[in-house]
This record gives sequence, structure tokens and C-alpha cells, in this order.
Amino acid sequence: MDIHKVRKDFPILEELIHGKPLVYFDNAATTQKPRQVIDKLTEYYYKYNSNIHRGVHYLSNKSTDGNENARIIVQNFIHAKHSHEIIFTSGATESINLVANSFGEKFIFEGDEVIVSELEHHSNIVPWQLICERKNAVLKVLPFNDRGELMIEKLDGLITERTKIIAVNHISNSLGTINPIRKIIEIAHAKNVRVLIDAAQSVQHKTIDVQDLDVDFLVFSGHKIYGPTGIGVLYGKEELLNQMPPWKGGGEMIAEVSFEKTTYNELPFKFEAGTPNYIDAIGLGAAIEYVESIGMVNIDSHEHELLEYATEKLLTINGLRIYGTAKEKTSVISFLVKGIHFYDMGMLLDQMGIAVRTGTHCTEPVMQHFGIDGTVRASFSFYNTKEEIDVLYNGIVKVCKMFAVK
Ligand code: PMP
Repeated sequence: MDIHKVRKDFPILEELIHGKPLVYFDNAATTQKPRQVIDKLTEYYYKYNSNIHRGVHYLSNKSTDGNENARIIVQNFIHAKHSHEIIFTSGATESINLVANSFGEKFIFEGDEVIVSELEHHSNIVPWQLICERKNAVLKVLPFNDRGELMIEKLDGLITERTKIIAVNHISNSLGTINPIRKIIEIAHAKNVRVLIDAAQSVQHKTIDVQDLDVDFLVFSGHKIYGPTGIGVLYGKEELLNQMPPWKGGGEMIAEVSFEKTTYNELPFKFEAGTPNYIDAIGLGAAIEYVESIGMVNIDSHEHELLEYATEKLLTINGLRIYGTAKEKTSVISFLVKGIHFYDMGMLLDQMGIAVRTGTHCTEPVMQHFGIDGTVRASFSFYNTKEEIDVLYNGIVKVCKMFAVK
């Protein structure tokens, strides 16, 4: 991978922030977009825009083909069996809400149980709380240890004959832990329990094969994999999606409508009510093609190198503690320096052109586990460099001197 060539694909990386070269370390929140994606969006808006699936004219067919081709790109990317198992949504959050509501409507009843982990993003907690409240079901939690690793040995004991689904992330956004999802799926399936994997933080780092994993549902957001905002994916096994009722009603998702009775469209359209976000779906397709052109293996190894380099370097700073020290980790470093509030650290780093995220990262239970209010989070992408990590290191040292942390 030619890092200098790769960086040229991302126009924003040439920006100056407060007069300093941008060091963008907020990739777990959202990734920057390569020209290949921006150009694809522009091309479609300039030349081909038209509402899809309804028209007979050239432009409508062109946009429809673009949207359906993007579906096939996603299908191949995650190795799904059928393209109609790929549902386009607005993002991981909407995908989880879709499953919680539709699967929940059909399969979760009073006294049933749903299991999530203590490591989840709020978007993989709250939708399940809402359905559990509505159905009088029980939400159970798989805890993690002080390194930020799920206590997988407790999972079997948590599952009962009332457990319907386990919803867990592949990679934690606040700690970077890579969870043993294959093992989780095996344990769950041995007891006939369904599994939803939140892959919002993993599709951009790891190869995913939904058939090999035998996962029931998998969700992710386009904007975290170098694609546009406002587009996301729900993968679901055909036999499950076919049993689930529609969640949203409107155009496109119907077969026939009368005031007496409405019948529903087939997959994937049953779950795609209204005008879909087809241009961003096409942009997501371009993003996946771009990532594949770099190569998942190259991405993973470069990011891992950055993680090791940064971890070693940052730990030499007096008073700095890293939260999340799992053996299996992706390129996320959550840290605090004793005596310095994370907001102060984040704001002062920003003055040096360094973009990091501060706060709870939408994982309040993770912060509660460690007894803290938040962290500073630096998250790396394949377009980041060791030189940029040096800039971060020097920046933190400078902030420490300002606060006179010895
Ligand atoms: N799950 C995880 C692990 C995440 O990191 C995020 C985004 N931070 C989400 C779900 C939600 O993604 P979105 O806001 O794009 O729907």
C-alpha cells in the first residue's frame, strides 16, 4: 500500500485546521471520503438522477441499475447468499431498530429475554429496551472484564429457554475490543437463539463472511466505511426476513393496496418503504469498491501497526492510562491523563489541528464500568501515518506541560 498515493485520494487530508495540517484521528465516529466516492455522487447528481423502480425512462433505469448494482456489491462484500438479503437503511441505528421492532413484533413475547453486552453502543441497547418494555420482556447483559473483553464464559449461563436473540457488536467503538463473534454465534445457535452482529466498527477493518459466520442479522453504516452519510445496511437471513412483518409502511414496500387489505412486496423491498436513498447507496457501492482496491489485508495490517506504535508511544507519557487493553484490538485508543479533563485535552489538541473525540462515545455503561465520565479517543484509519501519531504524542505532552502534569 502506497500511503502517499492513498492520502491523495482524500481531499480533506490536505486541509489546514487552525493553520496546522489536519491530523484526523476521529475515524471511529466517521471516516473521510475518497474522490472515487465524491465523484460517483456528483456524477449521478449531474447526469443520472431520477427516482428509482417507478420509471420507464432512461434516467430512472440508470438510477435503478446503480442502486441494485450497489446491493450486489454489498452482497459480495459480506458474502451473503442472496442480494435480496441486503436491506438498505439510513444506518446501523435504523437497521437495529428495524430488527428490534420487526423481529420483536413477531418473536418476542411477555417473559422472553434479549441479551446485549455491556460493551454496546447505545444504538444496540435502547432499541432492545424499547421492545422489551413494549412486550414485557427482559433485557439481560453479558459483562466485560477490566481489559474490556467480554466474559464469554458467562454467556451460556445467561441463556435460558426464553432467550430469543443476542445482540452484540463485533468491535467496540469506545475501547476497540474485537469480540469473539464466531464463538458467540456458536453458543447461541446451540440453544436455538438468534444473533444480531453490530458490525458498525468492523466492516471497515475486517473481512466479513456472513455465511461462514452463520450470523442471522448483521448491520453497518456507510459513513464509517468511507461512504456517504445517511445510508446503511441490514443483512438478514432470507428465511428470517420472510417471516418478519414490515416495520415501516409506504410506497415501494407493497404488492397491492386497497382499503380492505394491503399485501406486501417481496424482499428486499418489503423493508424499504418510500423513496430509497439510492444516490448514497450508489456512493456506498463506490466506497466498498475503493476499500477492496486497497485490500482488507493491507488495511488491517497497516492499522495494526499504527495501533502498536501509538500504544507503545502514548504509554510512555506520565499519568496516561489507556482504557481497553484487550488482546484482540482494533485501531482505537481511549485514554485519560491524570488531572486533565478529556474536554480540555480534546480542545487543546484541536488547536494543534488534531481531531480526536471526547466524552462517552455513546457507551455510557462502558464508562460506568470504569467509574469515569468519558475518555479521549484517537481512532486510526489506513490513511493515517506514524508521523501523525508523533504529532499526537507531542501534542499530548504539550498539554501535559500546560497543566504541569509531571
Ligand atoms: N454501533 C457502533 C459500534 C457504533 O460505533 C455506531 C456509531 N458510532 C453505531 C452503532 C451507530 O451508527 P450510526 O450512528 O451510523 O447509525
